[in-house]
Amino acid sequence: MAGQSPKTQNDMYEDSKSSYFHRPALDVSIAFPQATPASVFPPCSSDYYQLDDLLTPEEQVIKMKVRECVEKEVAPIMTKYWEKAEFPFQVIPKLGALGIAGGTIKGYGCPGLSITASALTISELARVDASCSTFILVHSSLAMLTIALCGSETQKQKYLPSLAKLNTIACWALTEPDFGSDASALKTSATKVTGGWILEGQKRWIGNSTFADVLVVFARSTATNQINGFILKKDAPGLQATKIENKIGLRTVQNGDILLNKVFVPDEDRLPGVNSFQDTNKVLAVSRVMVAWQPIGISMGVYDMCDRYLKERKQFGAPLAAFQITQQKLVQMLGNVQAMILVGWRLCKLYEKGKMTPGHASLGKSWITLKARETVSLGRELLGGNGILADFLVAKAFCDLEPIYTFEGTYDINTLVTGREITGFASFKPPASALIPRSRI
Ligand SMILES: Cc1cc2nc3c(=O)[nH]c(=O)nc-3n(C[C@H](O)[C@H](O)[C@H](O)COP(=O)(O)OP(=O)(O)OC[C@H]3O[C@@H](n4cnc5c(N)ncnc54)[C@H](O)[C@@H]3O)c2cc1C
Repeated sequence: MAGQSPKTQNDMYEDSKSSYFHRPALDVSIAFPQATPASVFPPCSSDYYQLDDLLTPEEQVIKMKVRECVEKEVAPIMTKYWEKAEFPFQVIPKLGALGIAGGTIKGYGCPGLSITASALTISELARVDASCSTFILVHSSLAMLTIALCGSETQKQKYLPSLAKLNTIACWALTEPDFGSDASALKTSATKVTGGWILEGQKRWIGNSTFADVLVVFARSTATNQINGFILKKDAPGLQATKIENKIGLRTVQNGDILLNKVFVPDEDRLPGVNSFQDTNKVLAVSRVMVAWQPIGISMGVYDMCDRYLKERKQFGAPLAAFQITQQKLVQMLGNVQAMILVGWRLCKLYEKGKMTPGHASLGKSWITLKARETVSLGRELLGGNGILADFLVAKAFCDLEPIYTFEGTYDINTLVTGREITGFASFKPPASALIPRSRI
């Protein structure tokens, strides 16, 4: 062009770089016209055996209420927040309005749901977004339940009503950097001083902890050597929570490392009902049932997504749903979902009848999670390339299942809990002889 000096190679490189980085993100519906992304959530087609018939009318109502809310409010934004690993705070009032926080707790502004109804709220959240489900589970089935089961009357009246409305948010801190599966050996110390306790130590992986108003923390009393529980406030001097970065699953959940540097907790905030590690088991019995319903919800959502996808997308002139191999995978997923729901439902019934043992809960959590892993990986295959895009749910669900396989007792630890119950032999610790280095035998 007249009057303009010719472009150097470097100019051309800079031009191409700027147009590459500044072009708008391609809309997935344009890139993949044959498939609807999960922001428009698929209808539920996974209740093949009409297992809804097992539910009471109240349970069916709460299930549909949560489904409607989460499909409308969470599905359209979940991928963006998951990718950014940020929490969508604007969703909290919507979840608060559902009146599900506090689950089975009666009174103190809590909904007093049956354990089945409470489990259904967790699975419905997980069907759309496992992070959202984990946020509520940690807040409600771990932190609030600990206060309800192990707190004083004054503590319940003080903390539960605003937690039930999600006006304040809680977290539950048991795990430490050096004590995960072996949490009963935790080292964070609680030393009695005039008017209260001094807590010192570290916690790791604690969900919601970067923004929680209320932190339920477990520590070992230096006087009794037993585990005690405490309620801490987020602004307590010496308390610091730092976000754990680079997770590949449940990216929207804000997991934190907590540093407790001589944190003073007044006597009134020690939970009187936690006097040994065994006392946490009352809480874990319920929360393990709730966690077992997360992989159920995740698998339902993945099945629903695959069902729609295979009917929408065509290859070789036919919908993917018309091929024998894709049908086989879809049917295997559907069979898993039916069996998982039945086991989860039976677990709730055993609990309601006061018959559920720790082994029952552990088998439920471990087996359901195992089947869910199989289900989501079949789903991932079925979506081809879109099976690795978070926009189509399956890749996100595939990643989200991994931490669920690990938390609330890993698959192995839950297996050992059931193994101990059915055989009478505890095999958590290797025999002392196995710890002697071979060279010394
Ligand atoms: C995303 C996420 C969220 C979490 N949220 C919370 C939370 O809110 N609050 C909280 O307190 N904790 C939380 N946790 C911690 C979680 O409960 C622990 O990660 C879990 O208990 C496992 O501990 P670990 O990661 O230290 O693994 P480890 O205990 O180090 O286990 C590593 C491996 O060894 C195996 N193993 C360990 N012991 C045995 C044994 N005796 N026999 C056979 N195999 C064994 C395990 O099964 C596993 O495969 C969270 C974790 C994650 C990943």
